[in-house]
Amino acid sequence: MVSIAIDGPSGAGKSSLSNALAERLGYIHLDTGAIYRTVALYVIESGVDPKDAEGVIALIPKMDVVIEYVDGAQRMILCGEDVTGRIRTSEISAGASAVSAIPEVRTFLLELQRDFARRNNVIMDGRDIGTVILPDATVKFFMTASDDARAERRLAELVEKGEKISIDEVKSAMATRDKNDKSRKVAPAIPADDAIFLDNSGPFEETLEKALKIIRERTK
Ligand code: C5P
Repeated sequence: MVSIAIDGPSGAGKSSLSNALAERLGYIHLDTGAIYRTVALYVIESGVDPKDAEGVIALIPKMDVVIEYVDGAQRMILCGEDVTGRIRTSEISAGASAVSAIPEVRTFLLELQRDFARRNNVIMDGRDIGTVILPDATVKFFMTASDDARAERRLAELVEKGEKISIDEVKSAMATRDKNDKSRKVAPAIPADDAIFLDNSGPFEETLEKALKIIRERTK
């Protein structure tokens, strides 16, 4: 099986690149951030603070998280309910960052992700795909973009979801999340030693062509 790992901070354009690559190469895209977001939704709806590690750990046995694909699009199913449309809010972003720092949560989700890559040709995007989940990935990318480009992308996503939020609020929430993700003890969001850096501050088509060229060279 071929596996392409795409790590990097939020708003760098990992999802857009992963979707475009999946379409061009005929692979499946797994957005692993959506899994942490689904866990955060469960925690918040259970009335537990995502920062309360003990409270979150106690909920793990009850979490029934399933990934499905409908017409090629990833859907997150939580305890039998499709929650895909409810996990893109600012509250869930912050919650996902908090629960993802809990080692037991990461262990709980590890096999789910590895098993997926064993069964499919995948483009997997997240924070620790190249370092922890798929250390033997065929190609590992670490995607970046300027802070302004990232914040504008996030703002557009949130506004589309109907959130009233300013660019400064987005920048500040992103900075907090980046700091948490990079500094956590388990699986910090850092590039793998053998990751290829992809800067996505410029035109998307250029980033896509560069990534495609590298993947084709490695898989021929
Ligand atoms: O990618 P996205 O912004 O949806 O991820 C939400 C949060 O989930 C991130 O801020 C990060 O804390 C966490 N995450 C992670 N490891 C991954 C994917 C996401 O810790 N592989």
